[in-house]
Amino acid sequence: MININNLSKSFSTLDVLKDINLQVNSGEVVVILGPSGSGKSTLLRCINGLEELTSGTIEVSNIVVDAKSSQKVRNKQIKKVRLHTGMVFQQFNLYPHKTVLENVMEALLIVKKWPKNDAVRKGETLLNRVGLIDKRDVYPSRLSGGQQQRVAIARALAMEPDILLFDEPTSALDPELVDEVLAVIKELALDGMTMAIVTHEMTFAQEVADRIVFMSDGAIVEDSPPDEFFSRPQSERARKFLKKM
Ligand code: ADP
Ligand code: MG
Repeated sequence: MININNLSKSFSTLDVLKDINLQVNSGEVVVILGPSGSGKSTLLRCINGLEELTSGTIEVSNIVVDAKSSQKVRNKQIKKVRLHTGMVFQQFNLYPHKTVLENVMEALLIVKKWPKNDAVRKGETLLNRVGLIDKRDVYPSRLSGGQQQRVAIARALAMEPDILLFDEPTSALDPELVDEVLAVIKELALDGMTMAIVTHEMTFAQEVADRIVFMSDGAIVEDSPPDEFFSRPQSERARKFLKKM
């Protein structure tokens, strides 16, 4: 589903991603761990086309984005990639002047040009899935952070992405609201959704991940099954990281 080859990303003189190679198979849940500043967000943003690649290639759903292609070709490919990926951020970024249902339907109406009736039906199905159908006509400001994040997940699902990317989806939440969001993500995992998740929730990571990818200083240092990573981390950096958690 995702195939990253020799990806590097620099911001002027700062090398943020260094020769990243990563595959994510269909139906797999990959949890990305690592200290702050190790490049986790930048990696997700590169996958979703929010950052230009400095070198290397990223293939998502058979669409290749190559740093060496012309700007025109890259833009075209990135546009396609966006149609196949959904992203959920730490800040929920819902449209404040649209209701919950309107937030979820937005892309279906604007991007997919669905008729309103179909979009409403799909939106309701998704709100059912995240347990928020009773909030369909409410504005986001009336919801808790956990509920807003569940709406954001429903919105990301609306485009039926091949892969969902999560960047610390629970980091902005009060502790008592974390579990309801993690429960929704776990459900998606059980349904076979392909996901790459950056999180600091270690118990969740252990439960939901097929693989743990540990990053440090812009490089992938470990890529192993969760049992292995948590009980026998190979690198000193991972051991140090786990000790601090
Ligand atoms: P993480 O998500 O693991 O905390 P990030 O990917 O956000 O790490 O950041 C990795 C490094 O890249 C950090 O040193 C950060 O300051 C730097 N960085 C991220 N985005 C930018 C940007 N737009 N311009 C310059 N530096 C950036
Ligand atoms: Mg980050």
